Amino acid sequence: MAKHIFVTGGVVSSLGKGLTSASIGMVLERRGLRVRLQKFDPYINVDPGTMSPYQHGEVYVLDDGTETDLDLGHYERFTNSLLNKDSNTTTGKIYLSVIQKEREGSYYDGNTVQVIPHVTDEIKEKIYRLATDDVDLVITEVGGTIGDIESLPFLEAIRQFAQEVGRENCLFIHLTLVPYLKAAGELKTKPTQHSVGQLRQIGIQPDILICRTEHPIPQSDKDKIALFCNVDKKAVIEERDKEFTIYEVPLSLVNNGLDELIVKRLGLKAGSLDIGDWRTLVDRVKKPQHEVTIAVVGKYIKHRDAYKSVYESLDHAGIAHCSRVVIRRIEAEEISSTGAESVLGGVDGILIPGGFGMRGIEGKIEAIRYARANDIPFFGICLGMQCAVIEYARDMLGLDDANSTEFDQDTHHPVISLMADQKDVQERGGTMRLGLWPCVLQEGSLAHKAYGKTEIGERHRHRYEFNNDYRARLAEAGLVASGVSPDGRLVEIVECPANSWFLAVQFHPEFLSKPIKAHPLFRDFVGASLARRTSRRTDPVTN
Ligand code: GLN
Repeated sequence: MAKHIFVTGGVVSSLGKGLTSASIGMVLERRGLRVRLQKFDPYINVDPGTMSPYQHGEVYVLDDGTETDLDLGHYERFTNSLLNKDSNTTTGKIYLSVIQKEREGSYYDGNTVQVIPHVTDEIKEKIYRLATDDVDLVITEVGGTIGDIESLPFLEAIRQFAQEVGRENCLFIHLTLVPYLKAAGELKTKPTQHSVGQLRQIGIQPDILICRTEHPIPQSDKDKIALFCNVDKKAVIEERDKEFTIYEVPLSLVNNGLDELIVKRLGLKAGSLDIGDWRTLVDRVKKPQHEVTIAVVGKYIKHRDAYKSVYESLDHAGIAHCSRVVIRRIEAEEISSTGAESVLGGVDGILIPGGFGMRGIEGKIEAIRYARANDIPFFGICLGMQCAVIEYARDMLGLDDANSTEFDQDTHHPVISLMADQKDVQERGGTMRLGLWPCVLQEGSLAHKAYGKTEIGERHRHRYEFNNDYRARLAEAGLVASGVSPDGRLVEIVECPANSWFLAVQFHPEFLSKPIKAHPLFRDFVGASLARRTSRRTDPVTN
């Protein structure tokens, strides 16, 4: 029978519950256990796909096309847990299902449909569903902060669940903050005590407390937390802010004995810890041999998490080259007002990530022109590819008003247009071209060199596409479609062989990159940027 871990968070949001859950999953996987992770999100959107990145950061996409919370990105990057449509459950999803059953008529047999038991039953069902025979451990992260009204049904459901399957088969881990008060020169344990107090009111006694802190927590404070929160002294685990890298989190949890504690408490049959490759990785991150500056030109730059997977994939590529990637985050609109040279001067590579809507488009197009004119390695992703096609058509074909119909319905030259099967789509939720689709690569292209094979699969999230009416003309002018769908109809990758490294993709490679295995396109893009930096350094003319 599978065992269960529930991860909750207290005191404040943004404590890194997702990262901690992923790290817990990882260290247990590295002890030979078969782990599955899921996240509960208390908001009412059915999925985050309809939310602005300003609200909730990046929308992460799975193989099966499910649009999910970005924490699932951490799960995939840190573990091998199988993720699909059952891996992210929101309040909206739960209510949608309950209401559909009620409308159908007979399901609730004439009863009044209520939060308890009907909504909580529906939530519990999501936990049972993951606990299949091939899994040793299910880790369920509950989003939100203890004390929020909206997470109550989820907490009540996990409380009931533990009663049903037996408390000995469940472990409650609570992540809290132990703040440092400068004026008093002290760490404060009271917020943690209060947060645990609130959990206990709901009927959940945490077994383990993971305390986020900027400073080491003295044993006396740990003992105090243990006493007031009714947990074992050994179960107060410190998670110190990481100076260098998030990849240290699993190592620090191991150093603090968390894996052993969990294995013992749940009576798991685990092997010894096999984490050598991860230690090597952390060493590489801490001692880079080179540095490279990549500009990311986007629209949601101010939000730290809006391009989460892109930033992380760049880090992975840096690790592959033993290099530190310095990311210069640039608001696309800034380029329109101040010019490309002033904000992009000196960068070694330019990346334009995905996005929606008109704002910033012209700045992105200028950035692409700057990259092409100066032979700076360029990597376009989704909207970044669409902008690259627009730029090329305007500059090299002289089609001055070339555009995407997303931004200009009346353009004479819609080089990017709505996909045929999107034309009748009215609803916005979950209706884009989503998830993993195959793509065939042209032999000898940059893409082919990177992947080392001709057939690949990548994750998508878009409504617009390269307009084939312009394919031949653009190819003649030097913009090659180096990756297409197997039926040849959809352009998935374009390249410009006149440049050293200029490649743009309609899909989202950032969702398939891992710290130990950088995505081949990110790897080669950063490699090309490093090469350019090195050649500039040794070239007295441009130096
Ligand atoms: N807005 C564009 C489209 O819908 C690009 C989407 C994206 O970058 N994810 O096709």
